[in-house]
Amino acid sequence: MPIATVNPATGEVLKTFDPTPDGEVDAAIGRADEAYRALRGTTVAQRGAWLTAAADLLDAEAEQIGRLMTTEMGKTLAAAKAEAAKCATACRYYAENAADFLADAPADAAAVGARRAFVRYQPIGPVLAVMPWNFPLWQVVRFAAPALMAGNTGLLKHASNVPQTALWLAELFHRAGFPAGAFATLLVGSDAVERIIADPRVRAATLTGSEGAGRSIAAAAGRHLKKTVLELGGSDPFVVMPSADVAAAAEVATTARCQNNGQSCIAAKRFIVHTDVFDAFAEAFTVRMAKLRVGDPMDAGTDVGPLATERGRDDVDGQVRDAVDKGARVLVGGERPDRDGWWYPPTVVTDLTPAMRMWAEEVFGPVAGLYRVSSYDEAVELANGTALGLGANAWTRDPDEQERFATDLDAGSVFVNGMTTSYPQLPFGGVRNSGYGRELSALGMREFCNIKTVWVG
Ligand code: NDP
Repeated sequence: MPIATVNPATGEVLKTFDPTPDGEVDAAIGRADEAYRALRGTTVAQRGAWLTAAADLLDAEAEQIGRLMTTEMGKTLAAAKAEAAKCATACRYYAENAADFLADAPADAAAVGARRAFVRYQPIGPVLAVMPWNFPLWQVVRFAAPALMAGNTGLLKHASNVPQTALWLAELFHRAGFPAGAFATLLVGSDAVERIIADPRVRAATLTGSEGAGRSIAAAAGRHLKKTVLELGGSDPFVVMPSADVAAAAEVATTARCQNNGQSCIAAKRFIVHTDVFDAFAEAFTVRMAKLRVGDPMDAGTDVGPLATERGRDDVDGQVRDAVDKGARVLVGGERPDRDGWWYPPTVVTDLTPAMRMWAEEVFGPVAGLYRVSSYDEAVELANGTALGLGANAWTRDPDEQERFATDLDAGSVFVNGMTTSYPQLPFGGVRNSGYGRELSALGMREFCNIKTVWVG
């Protein structure tokens, strides 16, 4: 993939970049290593002050960086500005809480025959972050904020279609006060990743992206014995039971499926509805999906912009065509518009069968699969019936069912009667082919710490 800014609303190539040469990549790794040694000697309070300055810059420049994100990957400007604000919140959260998360944790000294025993959390060094284009600021900041607060440094290999956002991010942390080299952007293709992982100065790697990229990075990291955290795709179930508030569920379903133009890993993608409320939900959901305004992502009135890449749009179109060819019914949308740019309308497809790609694959666009079930057990079986397990959503006012869904849904998170979302305060990640490890909260910060046992006799 060329490293370039291509406006998804028009297909126009706006700017191309030469890849960072190997020698410069090596020098950046060297600076990240030096910065790590410098950062380790700083106090949490100092790092917190720098991260708070980064939050202030994110707030002050939300419009500017928002426009850049919209230009590079097509999300609405309103969503882009909200993303910058969310990043600022996460930076402040870690600035305020890192001292607690990194404090020595006392253990039962008497039980292990010591005068004192405790756990100390220490940084490990430069971490490579391979990141996707869908939330080009948030995916990076949710790694960078805890990593930098812990005293690690970051090397960012961002997706090739968001190079200007990637460069802005490297500047952000430097302008906020972090030492030169503490956070660097490498404009490289995916073919350069193994060489970076192999470098002994690079201590770990994290990826948010596709299953294929996950397998490839985990294999490379395995060869070089480096720790990884992988946040891969999801095909999240959204289960609606008879006791649900159907209108509220349909409203959230529409937002959950179409936020970020349908390109979110934790978007609800499979709508599994009990037969008692199926018709009411299908009607309410379809009406809302049909009402969404598709258009210029820079316009305040737009709900859904273009997909980020031509290949992504073609994939989504191919998945819908495959389902229709095999007998699925389209309730709304389903026609790829004939215009420049990578557009696809909000779509609801039903009568799906296991022979169709949409049944098992993630659909990375504003396309909902609608399924009818006749019992709790059938709902759970279908919900757990893909190889993925990122988030899950259940709608029920029955307290027993709420408890059972929390246990039975095979996913990294279960949200009941509300939209699956990431919060700095809550751990985020998946099970099965959706990846492993956790981001956010204290747990996310400790993924890239040496969790050191200290025993004093
Ligand atoms: P990719 O996984 O291809 O891209 C994500 C990042 O990984 C990019 O920086 C990419 O670099 C890099 N990458 C890709 N392949 C490799 C590799 N073999 N080794 C090392 N790095 C690699 O996502 P796509 O943009 O192609 O999207 C495809 C699908 O991935 C989507 O349809 C969706 O299912 C899933 N996805 C999930 C996301 C999530 O939030 N969990 C986010 C984005 C995608 P480069 O851009 O240079 O190829």
